[in-house]
Amino acid sequence: MYTGMQENTRFEELKKGFIVRVVMIMEKFNLLEKCKDAKSIFISGHVRPDGDCVGSCLAMYMYLRKALPEAEVKVFLEEPSEVFRCIKGFDEIDSTFAVEGEADVFIALDCEKSRLGAAEEIFENARKRINVDHHVSNERGCGDINYIDHSISSTAELVYDLFDRQYMDAEIAKAVYIGIVHDTGIFRYSNTSPETLRIAAELIEYGFDFPEMIDETFCEKTYAQNQLLGRALLESIVFMNGKCIVSAIDKKTLDFYNATPKDLEGIVNQLRITKGVECAIFMYATGNLEYKVSLRSCKYVDVSKVAAFFGGGGHVRAAGCTINGTFYDVANNLSKQIELQMKEHEERN
Ligand code: AMP
Ligand code: MN
Ligand code: MN
Repeated sequence: MYTGMQENTRFEELKKGFIVRVVMIMEKFNLLEKCKDAKSIFISGHVRPDGDCVGSCLAMYMYLRKALPEAEVKVFLEEPSEVFRCIKGFDEIDSTFAVEGEADVFIALDCEKSRLGAAEEIFENARKRINVDHHVSNERGCGDINYIDHSISSTAELVYDLFDRQYMDAEIAKAVYIGIVHDTGIFRYSNTSPETLRIAAELIEYGFDFPEMIDETFCEKTYAQNQLLGRALLESIVFMNGKCIVSAIDKKTLDFYNATPKDLEGIVNQLRITKGVECAIFMYATGNLEYKVSLRSCKYVDVSKVAAFFGGGGHVRAAGCTINGTFYDVANNLSKQIELQMKEHEERN
């Protein structure tokens, strides 16, 4: 799938729809060859790093340190959730973003440059920029070298594809596996391919405690996290004949539980599996009249298009954006965009 493709643009007419989507597939490149003369290699991912972002960045960090021991390798990320402490190298993550000089190589993972947050400037100033990502909203890649494939489950899967197997070990395998597990919802979402499962099989052969890792990083919830989930479910509203569901956590509730965005992960996925629901919206207050929105869909609503309309992005079945307004403004504006797609879908069927 990844190999042998020329750097090109493939136009793929989506069956059933009238949308023409551009799918970019970039040629796989030789990572070590591109990094071999670099004295400094910096790695970073998106703001509010999730499992794929942390797993991919730390896998890349461990791999490059091992394969290129002479190079100074650094990893920058906003403070990740403590659950990822089980990944080797977690303590070496630099959340201060304080750097001196320019990087010879900067590798941006699981996002395009506008979502690098404090690392964006460092990325811009690097001598060679590499971008590895799988977001539909990242159409072209923002690097001098881009490895972007929208059809792949996770950036971790793409990163693993770039690794020379001779440097693989159990710790690197675990980090890659965590990335894949988080972005596929433990191999349940439609982005899971036969290749994803083949890679997962290869990874667990390196030998690490994957059931414990899945429990610790994905399933386990603190008491406060469960309370917040409970409140979000209790206060959710279904609309469009039960095809849509929306819920929000306001500033007061976040403060009451002393909660951070990391405590809200998974809520939107629980809303999505409400029977009959096609599209789930979860939002939390990020400021006065400002909400971070998470969108998920089941079968036909392209939530990346909905998020893109509001300046965000993501994938066809999982996307996000930030919108200003009251809860009702935000829900109304989103539902208009979702309804347009639902109507198109009804007309086609
Ligand atoms: P979330 O609902 O925040 O978990 O995001 C779902 C997916 O959309 C993840 O893959 C995110 O990386 C992506 N995403 C969220 N917000 C944005 C954004 N503003 N721009 C681009 N991608 C986003
Ligand atoms: Mn991510
Ligand atoms: Mn991802």
